[in-house]
Amino acid sequence: MIDHTIDSNEAAGLAHRADTAAHHRAEPPVLTLKGLRQTFKTPRGDVPAVAGVDLEVRPGQVLCLVGESGCGKTTTARMAAALTEPTAGSVLFRGKDVAEMDRTERAAFRRSVQYIHQDPYASLNPVRTVYSTVSAGLRRHKLVASHAEARRVTTELLERVDLVPAEDHLDKYPHQMSGGQRQRVAIARALAMNPEVIIADESTSMLDVSIRVSLLNTLGRLRDELGVGFLFITHDLAVAKYFAWQGEIAVMYLGKVVERGTAPRVINDPRHPYTKALISAVCEPDPDLVRKERVRLRGADIPDLTDLPSGCDFHPRCPLYEEGDCDSVRPPLVRGHDRLLACHVATRR
Ligand code: SF4
Repeated sequence: MIDHTIDSNEAAGLAHRADTAAHHRAEPPVLTLKGLRQTFKTPRGDVPAVAGVDLEVRPGQVLCLVGESGCGKTTTARMAAALTEPTAGSVLFRGKDVAEMDRTERAAFRRSVQYIHQDPYASLNPVRTVYSTVSAGLRRHKLVASHAEARRVTTELLERVDLVPAEDHLDKYPHQMSGGQRQRVAIARALAMNPEVIIADESTSMLDVSIRVSLLNTLGRLRDELGVGFLFITHDLAVAKYFAWQGEIAVMYLGKVVERGTAPRVINDPRHPYTKALISAVCEPDPDLVRKERVRLRGADIPDLTDLPSGCDFHPRCPLYEEGDCDSVRPPLVRGHDRLLACHVATRR
């Protein structure tokens, strides 16, 4: 369980973070996803894994992408990091289309936008020490002048991610560390590039709860102290609430964003029936997440992406389904109730 109880010092910290977040919300986005689409060709037909996603990540702000597995979160994240080319749409970094960047600009983009994978076991080279892993980018980009400087900077990076005493970890191999420690090494490696955005793809989901909270606190500190923007991918609404409380949550369903707004609005007052269902399904003993009404879906089966239903993708499962528009017109993502919503019924209530 993630404990959300706060004392007065933490309350003051939260108030300060709210001010900082409000300030960052006014800043132009550092990373913009515009009409992003990814369609995979399969023998069974085209799979529209991501079907037109528009999002922005601002400095020092968290944008949390939430949804069931298979909803397109990771595909969106990979396109945002330019690890996969979109079928359509564009990724803009500081207003410049990544697809139109020259080699030098793309290299700068790769340094500025760092991707942290879900699996810390798989993302680290087993035959490299922590020092070798974290300092590789520093040495490759000639950000350090000597071996001694590389050791010193690596030590500082390990301290920054709370891997202390750093000297005890520098010469360890991944198999000599716990899952949480390995994920901290992955974060230190990302920080070595002095990133403006970190894309964290289910980066805490494989960790025990206490380690997860500690790692989220470390990431939160980096967000606040270094002004790093986060595109944070998770299937876990409790984690989204904990990490993105001063930021935004975008809920994805079958490749599309169906609700997007500030985290308190989306969590405390969800409007899209799919968001309500997600919150209703959380087992977490958190009053914000379980006091909502129980949502009974009309059907449990997620539609096949190669054979999507007519109208709203959610209509075969939706408890608010109404004959007419729901099964004939795809609801656009429009502003309503202080957020963006894609639902014929919820927008007019
Ligand atoms: Fe449900 Fe209709 Fe809204 Fe779709 S548009 S989520 S079917 S109420």
